[in-house]
Amino acid sequence: MSAPFLWHNGRLKPWTDATVHVGAHALHYGSSVFEGLRVYATPQGSAYFRLADHTRRLFESARVYDIEVGYGPDEIDAACLELIRANGMGSAYVRPIVFRGAGSLGVLPQADGPVDVAILALPWGAYLGDAAERGADVCVSSWRRPAPGTLPGWAKAGGNYLSSQLIALEARRGGYDEGIALGHEGLLGEGAGENLFLVRKGRLLTPPTSAGILAGITRDTVITLAGELGLPVEERDLPREALYSAEEVFLCGTAAEITPVRSVDRKRVGDGIPGPVTRALREAFFDLFGGRTADRHHWLTHVHDPVRPSV
Ligand code: PMP
Repeated sequence: MSAPFLWHNGRLKPWTDATVHVGAHALHYGSSVFEGLRVYATPQGSAYFRLADHTRRLFESARVYDIEVGYGPDEIDAACLELIRANGMGSAYVRPIVFRGAGSLGVLPQADGPVDVAILALPWGAYLGDAAERGADVCVSSWRRPAPGTLPGWAKAGGNYLSSQLIALEARRGGYDEGIALGHEGLLGEGAGENLFLVRKGRLLTPPTSAGILAGITRDTVITLAGELGLPVEERDLPREALYSAEEVFLCGTAAEITPVRSVDRKRVGDGIPGPVTRALREAFFDLFGGRTADRHHWLTHVHDPVRPSV
């Protein structure tokens, strides 16, 4: 699971040369913010999907925790592009991370304490394995998401992923592919690493971003593509039992892309196979990278010889 180079504090380094001090604040207190992006092989060469949107969210997450990134968004974008070129990768999962390094061991971060910035690129297939095609078996987790006003859900911070780990571990232990967490009020939230959609009575529904969930970029992509397919999405509070009467359920995220769900808590969803709405959205999504869906929103950033979008 590695590529020849990664980017660390302003330059490319061999994968094995980028090390972290054991006193790093992030290691002790979870003070990292990060992103996950995909690079897809397109007919015009490799291209980042929604690079600028991911970089924006990285800076927004850093701002929540007063972490000074030390590079501008354009520099991060350029580093992401450089890394894929240096590694000669056609497709990749890319992980920029900004974290507090070793300074004092106090919880209160030092205003002038060290901040590391690294970008890793990995070859990575379907996050939930063959569930991407057959449909995932998921459970509703006994672990709830942190309430709004506790850990900020919009910030993609390392510490938030302790909650995700509890959800994913419990799901795996129970023989499921993934777990879905309820929010603090017992309403549907999101998966351990994905946002959640369902189709009920022919309507496409998803929990609102005010529900303490991550405002996913794939979620936004799905909302946009669904609108273009004439399927407006309703963002609203949903009870757990909506999952049990849904015709279709799917998870979405950068790693998981669009993964159909075939059962929830061992109850079959619809016919137990990916339904027509999920299939139409997956097709529209993957066609963006095959060149069959027009890149109307300039979501693709080409790695080599950038193709300028026509306006
Ligand atoms: N929720 C959580 C908890 C996640 O970790 C992710 C993956 N980043 C998502 C939702 C989906 O977000 P995105 O589509 O931006 O990858």
